[in-house]
Amino acid sequence: ISKENGKRNAVLFDLKHMEGYVNKVSLESDIRSGLDKHEFYLVYQPKVNLKRGTIEGYEALIRWNKKGKEIIPPNDFIPFAEETGLIISIGKYVLEEACRQAALWIKQGVRFKTISVNISPIELEQNDFLANVHTILEKTGLPPHYLEIELTENVLMKNMERLLKILHDLESMGIILAMDDFGSGFSNFRYLSELPIHTLKIDRSLTSQVLIGRDAVIVSSIINIGHSLGLEVVAEGVETAEVIEFLRENDCHTVQGYYFSKPLEVHQVPEFVLGN
Ligand code: C2E
Ligand code: MG
Ligand code: MG
Ligand code: MG
Repeated sequence: ISKENGKRNAVLFDLKHMEGYVNKVSLESDIRSGLDKHEFYLVYQPKVNLKRGTIEGYEALIRWNKKGKEIIPPNDFIPFAEETGLIISIGKYVLEEACRQAALWIKQGVRFKTISVNISPIELEQNDFLANVHTILEKTGLPPHYLEIELTENVLMKNMERLLKILHDLESMGIILAMDDFGSGFSNFRYLSELPIHTLKIDRSLTSQVLIGRDAVIVSSIINIGHSLGLEVVAEGVETAEVIEFLRENDCHTVQGYYFSKPLEVHQVPEFVLGN
């Protein structure tokens, strides 16, 4: 490789790098101005109890109405927000808005037990996370036992001792903890018994496959182990009556999915009733 070639490659690399950089800067400023202009909002997906035929709770899921032109789903901006630290501002908005809304529903007599909020590992890592949660609960008047915080296995990449302390502090505040997307990653059962987790959510990639392959055995085993560990087990992404039947037979009575409802707009929640 000549000196000349090396130089040219270096220039090409820089250009490519710059292009990505420019895009990212504009996405970053779009998110910032989106936060200022209230372009972010929450939708709410019911969590259904099959045995009682009741709504256990609602999971808050963020949407971005970008410049009033298009609705951007979370997978298109949350990873970037995590990379840049913008997730901190987004997360504060989500938590406060979800708690405020839930407190209002309680006042209005809407029946539910929990409001679930997805929290990124980066949020959990902040020194003031607990204080923020505390302040938001005080400010909105939401009783802590209504709040369920959903974590993913990514939190386990961090310092375990610190994680345990934070989770125990949240638990002692009366907040409920859920492990989201179980079965989509390494899915270690051991930490489930070590962490103060109350709810285990089985990932959609597994529940959607129970009728076509080996995943039936995996899902029924996860349900059994989950229950043996004293956890509430929730199946995510349930779309068909056949999967509901499978879950009933395997003793999993709490589900979320399009079969019952897609995430609802906020005004739809008070009037939402379960079909069949
Ligand atoms: P998640 O927490 O596992 O949420 C479930 C996702 O599956 C939601 O997608 C929901 O709309 C979708 N879903 C539910 N039932 C069904 C079904 O029956 N079929 C299919 N095909 N999909 C179903 P959504 O709202 O696009 O969110 C995607 C992910 O983005 C969430 O996965 C969560 O990890 C993340 N996310 C959403 N809102 C927030 C937030 O406020 N903060 C953070 N940190 N992450 C969020
Ligand atoms: Mg979730
Ligand atoms: Mg999930
Ligand atoms: Mg997910």
